[in-house]
Amino acid sequence: MNAAKGENSTDKRTVLVVDDEEAIRDSCRQVLTKAGFDCHSAVDGIEGLHVAHQVEPDVILLDLMMPGIDGLSVLTKVLETHPNTVCIVITGYATIESAVDAMKKGAFDFLPKPFTPEELRLIVTRGLEQRRLLQETAELRAEKERMKQYFITIVAHELRSPLLLVKQYLDLIVGGKMGTIDDTAKEMLEGAHGTLTGLLDIIADWLELSRITAGDIAGGMQETDLWPVLESVVEDMKPFAEEKSVSLRLDPPPETCKVTADPKSMAVVFKNLVSNAVKYNLPDGSVTIEGLCADGNLRVQVRDTGIGIPEKELPFVFEDFFRVTSSKTADIPGTGLGLSIVKKIVEGHHGTVGVESSENEGAAFEVQLPLVHCDEEEAEEDYD
Ligand code: ATP
Ligand code: MG
Repeated sequence: MNAAKGENSTDKRTVLVVDDEEAIRDSCRQVLTKAGFDCHSAVDGIEGLHVAHQVEPDVILLDLMMPGIDGLSVLTKVLETHPNTVCIVITGYATIESAVDAMKKGAFDFLPKPFTPEELRLIVTRGLEQRRLLQETAELRAEKERMKQYFITIVAHELRSPLLLVKQYLDLIVGGKMGTIDDTAKEMLEGAHGTLTGLLDIIADWLELSRITAGDIAGGMQETDLWPVLESVVEDMKPFAEEKSVSLRLDPPPETCKVTADPKSMAVVFKNLVSNAVKYNLPDGSVTIEGLCADGNLRVQVRDTGIGIPEKELPFVFEDFFRVTSSKTADIPGTGLGLSIVKKIVEGHHGTVGVESSENEGAAFEVQLPLVHCDEEEAEEDYD
């Protein structure tokens, strides 16, 4: 029988039996040696830890009730230094609680005495097989992450940089800095410029999404007053809003509300929400950004008076690449990644984002973030 099924058969697996009962140690050793394992034993917890340190076993069979250090303490100590060790608890005084306790502390399984040789072989083999699968999964995950990072590097450097360069040349030509060009050529170059700008927007969105997914927001987390962030977002959006004849209004909460947040990521969130509120608005429409501290949360609402979102489309708006397709949105450029970025960032801050809207009735997006600090005295003064 190939005891260490699924693993290299020439690579002998090591098992350590820690039990104060000589009969158990001997019978385990006999069964497991016959099954092809390299078997060691120890008479109590202290010797068990010593042998485990020396031979670094793949599997430890551990009695729970032993004089001196008990099995649970041995289990904790072994897993602290060798988390990949398969620990199987054996005991004659099995209670559900001690089994659950051992499993919570990281034991693979539980084997009540008395057990048959077949049960012993099976549980050891299964433990090793599970460890192999876990290691394989971890390796595949790491490989997937490496491939993703590699792809991001390619997109960021090999694609974005040359496209930016081409765009800069087109900026100069279309902007008339290289002398006059005839109207047909100008029209064509303007088209190329627009397409390139759209492509660079997609790349920027995609890189932003990768940055968030890679957990890059955690590094910038700090106690943040969101209002200066929102003021600067509104300032940045003003020219775009003026171009669309849309007015922007910022109503801060009456009190100083602080959240734990990465200010850069928060700017991305509200830039996306405000730019949507402008982009999907109507001429002479308005956008209101309003803040409120309530129930331990900071709630920021971005409301607009635009085309709205049909109710049946609402469940999908936060999905990657989703866009409402209608005659009203056909000429509005976008990649459908903005709201998915918003959701990922907000959830990365332990917050929530929601939307209320119906067709032709405008839209209201609300971000809720847990508050760090709400200065109620200031609030009362403001209300007086
Ligand atoms: P981009 O990635 O450039 O932001 P986008 O604006 O199309 O592209 P999202 O911001 O993710 O993508 O929005 C998804 C879709 O939800 C939009 O295409 C639009 O149809 C709808 N939408 C979002 N915000 C609003 C809004 N304030 N009013 C009406 N429709 C909206
Ligand atoms: Mg958008």
